[in-house]
Amino acid sequence: MADVETLHDALIDELKDLYNAEKQLTKALPKMAKNATSPELRRALSSHLKETNGQVRRLEKIFRLLDEPAKGKLCDGMQGIIKEGNKMMEEVAEGPVLDACLIAGGQRAEHYEIGAYGTCIAWARQMRHHEVVKLLTQTLNEEKAADKKLSALAESGINAAADFGMQE
Ligand code: FE
Ligand code: ZN
Ligand code: FE
Repeated sequence: MADVETLHDALIDELKDLYNAEKQLTKALPKMAKNATSPELRRALSSHLKETNGQVRRLEKIFRLLDEPAKGKLCDGMQGIIKEGNKMMEEVAEGPVLDACLIAGGQRAEHYEIGAYGTCIAWARQMRHHEVVKLLTQTLNEEKAADKKLSALAESGINAAADFGMQE
């Protein structure tokens, strides 16, 4: 018999995936921040780490509201994104080019989350879990803001610095 039969089962499954994905990120973000040269980028990654810890707590609250144990399930997608990021940090020389690449990796992670939270919100809304919708939307907004912040940093100097470095 399949483990997931109803949309409710599918929602719980996606939430477990996200719970694991967020926890993976709490381990990956400090290393990314440490590798950043730009103080603004380092600050943005550190502040998203704090937010991510809050997102883990928020998911625990959501599991409580749905009467489910807070249990993760390996998120292969985030594991892959983090694995690519780790490989990149080994390959790219420290400085503005690495900063540009850290932003690229960070945005991949944010986009994965934005997709997953968007789906969970639509499903929770369909099933009238209004409090869950509210909490998930808070996290979605944080992910979107983190993504925008990374774009702004890239476009307000980091990409230019990375490109200028190449021409020296
Ligand atoms: Fe997150
Ligand atoms: Zn996943
Ligand atoms: Fe995030």
